Amino acid sequence: MTLSGSCLCGGIQYEITGPLTDVYHCHCSMCRKLHAAAFRTCAKVQASDWRTVKGEALLKTFESSPGEFKVFCSTCGSSIHTRFTEKPEVYALPLGTLDTDPGVRPNRHVFVGNKAPWFEITDDLPQFTENG
Ligand SMILES: [Zn+2]
Ligand SMILES: [Zn+2]
Repeated sequence: MTLSGSCLCGGIQYEITGPLTDVYHCHCSMCRKLHAAAFRTCAKVQASDWRTVKGEALLKTFESSPGEFKVFCSTCGSSIHTRFTEKPEVYALPLGTLDTDPGVRPNRHVFVGNKAPWFEITDDLPQFTENG
């Protein structure tokens, strides 16, 4: 199955030709700010399965922590993925820009200790105060 996604302005399009794994909702303050949302739903993807179909030149990076690079669209600001200096073979993919159903579903909430006070978790997935 090939997954495809795009940013808000459509300038960036990508394809993923392998499975997404380890899907979770992250409530940490960095994810909340990056996405301007209550939480970020994230999965792991093999870098070798990633192909930027269009808009490579629009990709901009921000080093949010040492060795951790948030990649986003320089035109519209959509969060595309995260790259790690220590683990270049894996990207962390926020699911929000996918245009196809990845099939996988989140299995837990992490960093709920930093959860937005205005958001209530109403599902039965396990919750972890920090990383879990
Ligand atoms: Zn864009
Ligand atoms: Zn986070």
